[in-house]
Amino acid sequence: MIAPVAASTSRIVVTDLDGSLLDHYTYDYTAAETALNALEHAGVPVILASSKTRAEMQALREAMGNWHPYIVENGAGIAVPSGYFGPAVTPTEAEGDRLPLAQPRAHWLQCLDAVKTDFAGEFESFAAGGDQWVSEVTGLSLEAARRANQREFTEPVAWLGSKDRQSEFIRTLESMGARVQRGGRFLAVGGDADKGRALRNLRDRYADYAGAAVKVLALGDSHNDVAMLAAADAAVLVRSPVHEFPRLDSDFAVYRSEAIGPEGWAEGVFHWLEGEQV
Ligand SMILES: [Mg+2]
Repeated sequence: MIAPVAASTSRIVVTDLDGSLLDHYTYDYTAAETALNALEHAGVPVILASSKTRAEMQALREAMGNWHPYIVENGAGIAVPSGYFGPAVTPTEAEGDRLPLAQPRAHWLQCLDAVKTDFAGEFESFAAGGDQWVSEVTGLSLEAARRANQREFTEPVAWLGSKDRQSEFIRTLESMGARVQRGGRFLAVGGDADKGRALRNLRDRYADYAGAAVKVLALGDSHNDVAMLAAADAAVLVRSPVHEFPRLDSDFAVYRSEAIGPEGWAEGVFHWLEGEQV
């Protein structure tokens, strides 16, 4: 593998995966390839940012030929290829390429263990369920389930009890310092992190490396992308085939794509590149 080194760049792109760069149904990104090539030609690194684990994202970025840092588990951590921003300068970097922005999974597993008796039989975590169970409840292959279960910062929990008891469960975990996010199928238990904070952290690293300000384009399609879009200099909301555009808290400049998924992603990138050239 080629040792990745950061280009001294003045622009970066940070993007959500599912429903944005990747098609909602097929996970295909062919429709975005011309835009990805245009960014590479312009020397603009593309930073992948997802709720996926590092193991899941590693497989994907290798397939894409992307060697840049990436944001994992909804902003709870950043993976920086060793040496990307020059020689290691902090103990964290010296440890490897893992930059935690929230408490580790083990901390949240301890919290779940502490409430196990009070909520007996009412929830199942990925850790307790195991790879086979994760495969069964998600429909992922066993190999993909194994990667999804290689978590570093967050714990997905399937709720089996009543709605009222779920609210009590969430309140209990929040009183222990957890942030509990309701997803489609699971509750995600983790620390106080989001993709927006991870974006700012990475932007500062690029700016330090370049010795100048760095402009960021962020692209996403869902509610969990809003903090990331708001933290960027320019934002693209990618049209979804299954839900409306998410509500934005503030009135920052955002381009809403006409096309859906990766095709809308490419549309947004070209819109940004054209505007940047003026
Ligand atoms: Mg998405």
